[in-house]
Order: sequence, then C-alpha cells, then structure tokens
Amino acid sequence: MSKGIVFNIQKFSIHDGPGIRTTVFFKGCPLKCQWCSNPESQLKQIQILYDKTKCAGCQTCVHTCPHHAITFSNQQVNINFNQCVSCLQCIHNCKNHALTHEGEYKTVDEVVDICLQDIDFYEESGGGVTISGGEGMSQPEFLKELVLKLKEHKIHTAIETTGFIQSEIFRELAPLFDLLLFDVKHYDREKHFAGTGVYNDQIIENLIYTIKTGLPVLPRIPVIPGFNDSLEDAMGIASLLNRANAMKVQLLPFHQFGEKKYELLNREYTLKNETALHPEDLKEYQQIFLDAGIQCFF
Ligand code: SF4
Ligand code: SF4
Repeated sequence: MSKGIVFNIQKFSIHDGPGIRTTVFFKGCPLKCQWCSNPESQLKQIQILYDKTKCAGCQTCVHTCPHHAITFSNQQVNINFNQCVSCLQCIHNCKNHALTHEGEYKTVDEVVDICLQDIDFYEESGGGVTISGGEGMSQPEFLKELVLKLKEHKIHTAIETTGFIQSEIFRELAPLFDLLLFDVKHYDREKHFAGTGVYNDQIIENLIYTIKTGLPVLPRIPVIPGFNDSLEDAMGIASLLNRANAMKVQLLPFHQFGEKKYELLNREYTLKNETALHPEDLKEYQQIFLDAGIQCFF
C-alpha cells in the first residue's frame, strides 16, 4: 500500500464542499502563489518550522544536525531545505520547542480510518471528504488509492485542485471525484506566471476538458489585491470562463490567514500590507460575471 505525505487532516470543515467534511491536506504543490494561505503545503517533504520568539540561541540544533542544514546568523536559525533530510533530530534536541515540523507520511488506511470516524456526520449533512493542499494530484498513486477506498465506503469525495497537472494524470484522476473545486487564477499567462510561478496553459486545457466531458466542477477565483482584483481582470476571466463553457463560478475574497506561517518558515509574506477583501467590496467585480451569463456567488 502506498504512503503519502499530508500535513493536516481537519475534521468538521464546512467551507470545502457540501455538508460537514473532513479535509485532508496533501503536501507538495507545483505552484508558488504569493498569497498562499498554506505556505507549508508547497514543499513535498517534511519541513521544519522555526519560532524565533521561543529560540534561546543555544545553537544545539546547529551542532546536532547530521547534514549541516542549519546555520545561525543574525541571532536566528536558518534552515537549508536542500540539505535537510527530515530526520527531525533538531526538533528532538531543542529544549525550547522553537522547532516543530509540518508533514508526515501516512498510509491510505491510516487516512481512511480517520475519515471514517465521522461517516455519520457526512451522511446526515450530505458531506464527505475533501482533498486539499498543496495539490493532491501531485501524489497521483496515493490519491487514487485513497479515493477508491473512500468510494468503497460510499463517501462523497471532492478535491481542491490547481488544475496544473499533466493531462494524462488529470484525465485519469479527475473522474474519480464527485466534485472538482477548480482554481482559476488569471486569464493572462504572463500575469499568471508572475503570481504563481507557472503559466496557465495546462490549467486552461484541463478546465476546458473537465467542462466538456461533463465532470462535476465548480471553478473558483481567489480574488487577490494587485493580482486579479481589477474589473479588467474580471472581464478577462469571465471571457475565459465563457470560452470554457463554465456556467458558474465562486469568488474567494483574499484574506491573510496564512501570515504567521510565513514567519515560521522564515519566508517573506509579500501581501502583508494588503487589506482583506469582503463580498461587499466585490459587487462590481461579481456583476461582470453575472453580465457574462455566469452564475457568480461567494
Ligand atoms: S536548539 Fe532551539 S533554542 Fe537552540 S538555537 Fe536551535 S532553535 Fe534555538
Ligand atoms: S530535520 Fe534533520 S536534517 Fe533537517 S535540519 Fe533538522 S536535524 Fe538537520
């Protein structure tokens, strides 16, 4: 049985698909979105987090790391993830608990057992299990095995996907789900690249395929200040959705829930000074989709 790397299994989720759900967060993502609210999801390996406020500067971690992945400068610890092999020795040796980790390997059965604990809630609420991340499809074998096992228990399955997956893999995995929550971030390939680190060609191809083949899909737009929040952006995305024959779209207004995690990962959060968006800020934005004949909601 294959093992996968996950960083969280969240019970009683109510924003990741219909009803009450368990959300399984896969680690590893081909995109590097600047606004990512789960930055710890991006690397497909166990990752060490460092809380500067708890660090006494003893440098025990520097000396105990067998792979010389840790250095100490400017009064703080720096971890080189290219050298780290996730042995966790630094964590076990830090008396101040300044180091923690994200991500662990689990078997399909281990994940299914956790999901099954709430099967009564799924049945009563019309809920199920959602795969989030990260990008679940970047661990294709583990994902397939997991979804098929959940299906054996007649559990509704959804996936939040970036759509940035090789066609062959996407076409094999997408039909396994009862719902695809498909992110559409930008219509313009250069701007898409600037915000996410990848071009959008593959994503658009997979979106068109999904709708054309009648798979149950809900396109969703994370609306991000300075990236895709102008009315011109809305017009461009609406036109893309029309081209793909999408009938509906959900808007996900920007928030800063992930900010603290950037600090723990010793990464800069470039959207620190942006304010959160709310549905009332996006009325005109929403209207553009409605005018284009697309059912648009929050
Ligand atoms: S072992 Fe812990 S307290 Fe000591 S330097 Fe490393 S992170 Fe800081
Ligand atoms: S997990 Fe292991 S290899 Fe990675 S930084 Fe800590 S001690 Fe070094």
